[in-house]
Amino acid sequence: MFAAPTDSFHRKIDYLRLSITDRCNLRCVYCMPEEGVRKFGHPEALSYEEIVRLARISISLGISKVRITGGEPLARKDAIGLCESIAKIPGLGSLTLTTNGVLLEEFAEDLFAAGIRRVNISLDTLKAEKFRQITRRDLFSRVWAGIMAALKVGFSPVKLNAVIMAGVNDDEIEELARLSFRYPFHVRFIEFMPFQQCDYESVFVPAREILDRLGRLGRLEKTPEGDGDGPARQYAFEGAAGRIGIISPVSNHFCPGCNRLRLTADGKLRTCLFSVDETDLRLLLRRGASDEEIGERMLAAISKKPEKHHLSNPVFRKCISRPMFSIGG
Ligand code: SAM
Ligand code: SF4
Repeated sequence: MFAAPTDSFHRKIDYLRLSITDRCNLRCVYCMPEEGVRKFGHPEALSYEEIVRLARISISLGISKVRITGGEPLARKDAIGLCESIAKIPGLGSLTLTTNGVLLEEFAEDLFAAGIRRVNISLDTLKAEKFRQITRRDLFSRVWAGIMAALKVGFSPVKLNAVIMAGVNDDEIEELARLSFRYPFHVRFIEFMPFQQCDYESVFVPAREILDRLGRLGRLEKTPEGDGDGPARQYAFEGAAGRIGIISPVSNHFCPGCNRLRLTADGKLRTCLFSVDETDLRLLLRRGASDEEIGERMLAAISKKPEKHHLSNPVFRKCISRPMFSIGG
């Protein structure tokens, strides 16, 4: 492995979230509008070769962890081949995937064979009707089958991510957490972030409240943080097979420890989920830049990574530059 670059706040930047598509087979209310989504056309989206080249350059700079995301990454037709090619890049420490699970039953074995060992699956509810309301698609059973396939194939851990929204699924916090007793899942509760226009204050549930609710279920022990935990604070119920994670980007932001870069499916490098600054790597690629030139531009972007986001400021919340599916969550 190569030494990871650091930014101007002495943070080690060793993690890339690589969005391979802005397309999706769901329309989650907190992420995508129901209709009228402008998708990247063919010339806009990075090709297979461009994605692999940028992953290779990133790894040569010292990025050791890559997460494939989207949009829905498995909705891209060459997703498995892409994972395979990226997994083979020398210097890569871990390759992981975030998916909505719709196509996971079909692809779990291929993903495992391609070299992926850990998956995060979005699951905001255990009720089929509520799933339809949140995602605007009637696909709960497909997702549940995908989750079971992930366990069977041997991904470990399988992390389930639930975005908690007041009046929508906050009544299921306990039920979702109970899954960690029966299965070795890491059930992670994520604070809702203001990516879609909504009455944010009335929907937002702070992590503190989620933890209070979990406390009714049993005693939660804090567990030591592992390398793959990222910004999640980790807990476990006594005797449970799995774990509980709390991710609080809004109420208790994790910027001081942020090690992330993001590459959008149209080739823009972002050093902060909420920043308006993007570095156009696609332009460089298509102008014939060398790996060294592209690497230098990436390091220049890293050196300007913002210290923190300003999500606690309501004015800032109204100016978020791109929706989540388009950045790559
Ligand atoms: N389609 C895949 C999925 O849903 O897992 C990967 C991309 S999705 C954009 C990545 C993650 O972002 C998901 O776990 C999703 O729940 C989360 N996400 C999207 N919009 C969000 C929001 N407004 N607040 C918090 N998390 C959000
Ligand atoms: Fe699609 Fe994931 Fe966004 Fe839901 S959260 S609309 S599954 S990209």
